[in-house]
Amino acid sequence: MDAIAAAQVLSEIGYLLRQDPKQIYRARAFSVAAWSLALERPDLAVLHHSGGLTSIEGVGEGIAKVLTELVETGQSRYLERLREQMNQPSNADESVLDFAEYQGDVHSHTKWSDGRATMLEMAQGARDLGYKYLGITDHSPRIKVVNGLDAERLVAQSREMAEVQSQVDGVTLLQGIEVDILEDGSLDLPDAVLEILDVVIASPHVKLRQEPAAMTERMLRAVSHPHVDVIGHPTGRRPGSREGSNYDFEAVFKEAAKHNIALEIDCDPARMDLGPELARLALECGCNFTLDADAHAPAEFAYVPMGLWMARRAGIPEGRILNFRPLDELTMIAK
Ligand SMILES: [Zn+2]
Ligand SMILES: [Zn+2]
Repeated sequence: MDAIAAAQVLSEIGYLLRQDPKQIYRARAFSVAAWSLALERPDLAVLHHSGGLTSIEGVGEGIAKVLTELVETGQSRYLERLREQMNQPSNADESVLDFAEYQGDVHSHTKWSDGRATMLEMAQGARDLGYKYLGITDHSPRIKVVNGLDAERLVAQSREMAEVQSQVDGVTLLQGIEVDILEDGSLDLPDAVLEILDVVIASPHVKLRQEPAAMTERMLRAVSHPHVDVIGHPTGRRPGSREGSNYDFEAVFKEAAKHNIALEIDCDPARMDLGPELARLALECGCNFTLDADAHAPAEFAYVPMGLWMARRAGIPEGRILNFRPLDELTMIAK
């Protein structure tokens, strides 16, 4: 079993453990170990033979046992037990999604808002992974604590982007925004600004616990906006610590499909949003998806290979995930 496949198993274990608040530390340990496997891609068979599995960052005795079983049998009985306990479908891995085919990420942050790396560092990180494109989508002005971008700062950012693009080959930078969906479903930037950006991700960040009828209205408005391309982390949940929004998912997903607005699967293990259950519903409603790391530093791009399992567990085929399309087929661009 290769490191990416093992990372997917560990991240699913972490995800399932997160459903029980008492297991949050254990859940995090599995997510961290998964992340380091996805980042470092060690040769597990070699480490197993030399007894060196615990030399992997974040892997202690317990997780090493799971890895040992994976190397020897390709299975994890612990995962199977957890799936059973959580009433997860056991035979849901029907779609095949290969990280090697993943073309690029459309949701990432830089020091222009709350990212921890410069645009150049993010672009180089994406290039090093072989990505063909990267969406730079910092926050909109409403989120003051993260220094969100207004029209003026977006213009300044576009100058830096031209400069960075001239220094980094192979990966096309897309200028975007992660615009806040306000309480009434309007967006935190004027249409004239959204219109000129390559990628518009509209996300709920505040007032997530609005009562469902109002939240449904809010989301319906967001998914009928002509300049929105993607709904970012559609529930805002943080499994194990924060419940997400509750709304008429089916109505909102159907409306999103009608307007050709994709729903994001945010692969950050603290979010996993949409989770497999809602992603499955969205698939039935005819939606397309994006699979993004929502990276705030280059190392976080490794959330995507960890998160691929979610889409697979939801049975989402490659053709419905925009990140598997080449740049010139990305329907969101200049929509
Ligand atoms: Zn966000
Ligand atoms: Zn984000």
